[in-house]
Amino acid sequence: MSINNYSPFHDLRSIIFNLPKVELHRHLEGSLRLATLSEIAYENGVDLPTMDPEELRPFVQVVEADDPDFKGFLAKFSLLRRFYSSREAVMRVAYEAVADAAADNIYYLELRFNPVALALNQGFSFEDVTDWVIEAVDKASVDHQIEVRLIVLINRMEPQYAPELTEIAVAKQDKGIVGLDLAGDEQTFGDVTGLVKVFQWAKSEGLFVTVHAAEAGPPSNITSAVEKLGAERIGHGVQAMRSIDVIDLLRRQNITLEMCPTSNLQTGIVGRLHQHPVYAYHQLGIPVTINTDDPSICNITLTDELIVTTRGIGMPLRILPDIILNAAKAAFLREPEKTRLVNWFRKALNETFITTSLD
Ligand SMILES: [Zn+2]
Repeated sequence: MSINNYSPFHDLRSIIFNLPKVELHRHLEGSLRLATLSEIAYENGVDLPTMDPEELRPFVQVVEADDPDFKGFLAKFSLLRRFYSSREAVMRVAYEAVADAAADNIYYLELRFNPVALALNQGFSFEDVTDWVIEAVDKASVDHQIEVRLIVLINRMEPQYAPELTEIAVAKQDKGIVGLDLAGDEQTFGDVTGLVKVFQWAKSEGLFVTVHAAEAGPPSNITSAVEKLGAERIGHGVQAMRSIDVIDLLRRQNITLEMCPTSNLQTGIVGRLHQHPVYAYHQLGIPVTINTDDPSICNITLTDELIVTTRGIGMPLRILPDIILNAAKAAFLREPEKTRLVNWFRKALNETFITTSLD
């Protein structure tokens, strides 16, 4: 059987699970296992509404009873900040985030984290928490045979930390930090003028840039991310469909979109999955990728997201290897590493597709 005439008797989940995958948009702070949360809370005396993992679920995960809501989604992160209570806790969370990605057949992962979120509650230094994340991720990537790069995230609501975070990211490029991200409330904090200098400096020092833009905010946030901050990739970009000029910009400059369908559904950015623009963007020639955003908050894996993309959004299964390859091509790597990664995935995807699609 070829992938072009997929049989309903064939297990879609196992086909997609078996594909070697790339993930570019995953937040460390959205990747905490529920059981780990409870154990950390017990060990470190974290004050919580409940210690039972199942009872804890609605506080840290989107559940069926939740209405789709952007602010409600972000509120889940505030409770999570309490769990980074020790060096061991930060390292355990980082290690498990990588291990979980590897268990889903992800072979290349870019994991983003906000040192402020990890440090502030306990008064750790941003540099210390960054070093802990690097150490844990290094160990996990060896133990679980997955290649990982790190992206330091700056919150739009906390621009005062941008210079220090950027200095740390630049200084630790030889330890696997490859880029900067800008995230947070882009409706209220859409103006990026105050961040231009620091992002330009980061780029001149060799970092790549991705920006959460046009998720809940206007399409023009993509324009400023690309033209002012030098973004090579955009997180989400769902609202780009409201502006032909922005669609044109994405196509002309070959800007890759990091799209996260379930997250968009849970935040209410799209009302129904079939309204999600990822397949339309692909047909328009914009490089799109599929990502989890926050696997534990959304309660998903990348395999789930790729299933959602075919079953819920209607992208044909045969296109998924191209979407995975888009992600490899947009990895924040320099040559010759980039070409090596793309060639490895091209070959591995071909082989896996032929193997899994033959009965
Ligand atoms: Zn995100």
